[in-house]
Amino acid sequence: MNRIFISRPNITELEKSAVMAVLDSGHLAQGPRTAEFEAGFAEMIGVRHAVAVANGTCALQIALMAEGVGPGDEVITTPFTFMATISTIFFTGAKPVFVDIQEDTYNIDPDLIEAAITPRTKAILPVHLYGQLCDMEKIMAIADQHGLRVIEDACQAVLANDGTRYAGGFGTGTFSFYATKNLMTGEGGMVTTNDDAVAERARMLRNHGMKQRYYHDMLGFNYRMTDIQAAIGLAQMSKLAEMTRRRRQNAAYLNERLHSVKTPRASLESAHVWHQYTVRFANQEKRDAAVKQLGEAGIDTGIYYPIPAHRQKSIAAMVGEVNCPVAEEAARQVLSLPVHPLLSIEDLDRIVEKVNEL
Ligand SMILES: *Cc1c(COP(=O)(O)O)cnc(C)c1O
Repeated sequence: MNRIFISRPNITELEKSAVMAVLDSGHLAQGPRTAEFEAGFAEMIGVRHAVAVANGTCALQIALMAEGVGPGDEVITTPFTFMATISTIFFTGAKPVFVDIQEDTYNIDPDLIEAAITPRTKAILPVHLYGQLCDMEKIMAIADQHGLRVIEDACQAVLANDGTRYAGGFGTGTFSFYATKNLMTGEGGMVTTNDDAVAERARMLRNHGMKQRYYHDMLGFNYRMTDIQAAIGLAQMSKLAEMTRRRRQNAAYLNERLHSVKTPRASLESAHVWHQYTVRFANQEKRDAAVKQLGEAGIDTGIYYPIPAHRQKSIAAMVGEVNCPVAEEAARQVLSLPVHPLLSIEDLDRIVEKVNEL
């Protein structure tokens, strides 16, 4: 019996020959392939600028800093996310202010944002969790009204859209191309923005604060992408529409057939790119038993995320009392099943059979 993995990189001759061409070219660090990847990505998302970086965490840190977030500022965000969303806020010297999530989408609840705004609030950082676009219409309206910047964590949501714009095209966007993401380069990331000044600062922060070589106008980092990664990214980008279509098809297949668990629903077909297909159990005991039983049946699962950010040891003492009961309950009850584009019908049928037996 073959194991059904929670994610699989979709590597074909396209990626292999693209990488070989870079190795043969002798130009391995950030170069022409990276520029090409940035231009193609900006066009795909419909933004003026895309700045390629080493990974999604670098993208978040650079986006926050380029947007002017710093010491004394507050950033409104969700506790139900990967820790990089939160650690990067702290590393700018700012503080996260946690707002609870919606029960059905697991994304930040826009109706709770205004109550969290203080004179120190600088930005809102929504996370398009599992690949589903947040309610950006409401979030952008609140940001406009209060003069706040918006930095989107679109690391899981490349191509998610509401029919008007793509994730990462509303505010300043951040993407991850980690090996398990919908578009992957092994490690990699991107900052997207329509703001020329933010783009310029992001480019400088990525490369030691330089516009001109060895003239360091600001302090920066080495967060550059290599042309090897960019070549993989270009190949992946050409397959992304088809890979996304397959994710949507797999999610629909599971939604039609699973009846023993609460299945996920997209608010709008285009708004969800199914980075994760996340079902929900009545309680933690049932969820944890499912992990064990499915694992024994050769089906990998994932819990994203078992501990809300404000409960993490590293920051619990710094953030104090946080009232996010919906996120806390979700952390106990969610389970993600395989939905990636390389699943066969036989794989999907085995998942259906085993989950319905729970
Ligand atoms: C993957 C991910 C990140 C971090 O990206 P890396 O490339 O792993 O640094 C940040 N936020 C979310 C929501 C992610 O899924």
